[in-house]
Amino acid sequence: MIDLKTPAEIQRMHVTGRFVAEVLSEVGRLADVGVNLLDLEHHARGMIKRRGAESCYWDYAPSFGHGPFRNVICLSVNDAVLHGLPHDYTLRDGDVLSADLAVSIDGWAADSAYTIVVGTAAEEDLRLIRATEEALEAAIEVARPGNRLGDISAAIWAVARDHGYPVNTEFGGHGIGRTMHEELHVPNKGRAGRGLKLRPGLTLALEPWFARTTDRIIYDDDGWTIRSADGSRTAHSEHTIAITEDAPLVLTRREEEMSSPGR
Ligand code: MG
Ligand code: MG
Repeated sequence: MIDLKTPAEIQRMHVTGRFVAEVLSEVGRLADVGVNLLDLEHHARGMIKRRGAESCYWDYAPSFGHGPFRNVICLSVNDAVLHGLPHDYTLRDGDVLSADLAVSIDGWAADSAYTIVVGTAAEEDLRLIRATEEALEAAIEVARPGNRLGDISAAIWAVARDHGYPVNTEFGGHGIGRTMHEELHVPNKGRAGRGLKLRPGLTLALEPWFARTTDRIIYDDDGWTIRSADGSRTAHSEHTIAITEDAPLVLTRREEEMSSPGR
């Protein structure tokens, strides 16, 4: 069953969303050459504890992971793109880092991710990151009543195609609300005009992610970290949004995004 949220419930998700944005911004500020991924994990853990929030990842045990997840943030470096297990790794100049965080506050979840380059950025890495951001904004733009789920997928796919990036369809966006993953899978590739009709109150996590030269993935032995099959670099952008009668509401917008032009 698809659970439509009331405006009051969306407001509560927005409270969580703002906090997720705050933690991600802080992690991004701290991430630098010479910083260990475990330090970033511990920093996020401290913020979550102080806020009285609950990590949606801690003890998360889906079929693909080996044992429950015992971290609060996913940190994926270079060819790693999703579910990156924070581990003892010191960031190097030019590393591409994706940070993905989902927490719940008073029973309402929000989920967001973004990708940055640590130190000196290669132009091709920036282009890849920007493509996922552009795809996310295109997806948000069509998340309006009357459109269909396929319009969101098609919008993401169109941006990927424009940039020449292949798209994997195994992992994509999802419904979100009381839990991190609610019914509805939002593939990052699809046909416009198909699928569920979008309605006010629908809350979704939209998350385009691309690898430069492949749509295939491989898993690390830990069963969690997902990498591009050919080792090419990757990027991931995610926001939790609410479909309203008017413009879509982005619940996890980071402050630095709001101040950059075109948002
Ligand atoms: Mg996420
Ligand atoms: Mg998600």
